[in-house]
Amino acid sequence: AGTLHVVATPIGHLGDLSPRALEVLRTVDLVCAEDTRHTRQLLAHFGVEQALQALHQHNEDTQAANLVERLRAGESMALVSDAGTPLVSDPGFRLIRAAREAGIRVSPVPGACAAIAALSVAGLASDRFAFEGFLPAKAGARRDRLVRLAGEPRTLVFYESAHRIVECLDDMAAVFGRERPAVLARELTKLFETVLDGPLGTLLERVEADADQRKGEFVLVVQGAGEDGEAQVAEGRRVYALLAPHLP
Ligand code: SAM
Repeated sequence: AGTLHVVATPIGHLGDLSPRALEVLRTVDLVCAEDTRHTRQLLAHFGVEQALQALHQHNEDTQAANLVERLRAGESMALVSDAGTPLVSDPGFRLIRAAREAGIRVSPVPGACAAIAALSVAGLASDRFAFEGFLPAKAGARRDRLVRLAGEPRTLVFYESAHRIVECLDDMAAVFGRERPAVLARELTKLFETVLDGPLGTLLERVEADADQRKGEFVLVVQGAGEDGEAQVAEGRRVYALLAPHLP
């Protein structure tokens, strides 16, 4: 049977594609990509032409069985997403699970990951952390999630997109408290890379005051509740009770 390589691609700077990633992408029989146009461009930049197969949230279930069959028959494959590490807030979980169940060798080619890149420059406790990915889009569900996290002692890592960054900081300041230290990492490895640190209340003010700071892609790293976790949970519940009547 062939091997399924899970290959990290850059989160911005193309120099972050590793030589081994390039070699694997060049030599496999098939590259499974979240968005084939996006990956074709990336490969073209490196002078690579490859057979591509789309694998995204809408076809992953149906494609997984077919791809595992081809792996069984001896084809080698690479799985990539649009940016960073596949399966980290990206498709691939079902394919990997199906491949493992079929006894296929699954091998990582590690590289960029926005969450880890942000954590590595945040200067917040990094010995233990909780990756929370994207918060729910709806305000009620988002605040509910934040209330549940208010007492979490580990450093929290969130992904956020440009159109919800202000709402997200606003809710965090309300639920975690305006004084909770945090780091907002924007456009990492790209031209407008910015890493802001400060209490949540201050970060909110800076982002509200400067439209440029609302552009691009974000990782939010938030200090954990620390020793006083119980008190934080109680405070979160109190704030939520205040907010609840105003929720949509
Ligand atoms: N698989 C990717 C990884 O390994 O980081 C994450 C994919 S997820 C769909 C996209 C989100 O990751 C963005 O909304 C943003 O929160 C974060 N992200 C990706 N690239 C980033 C960058 N260059 N700077 C800051 N955040 C980034």
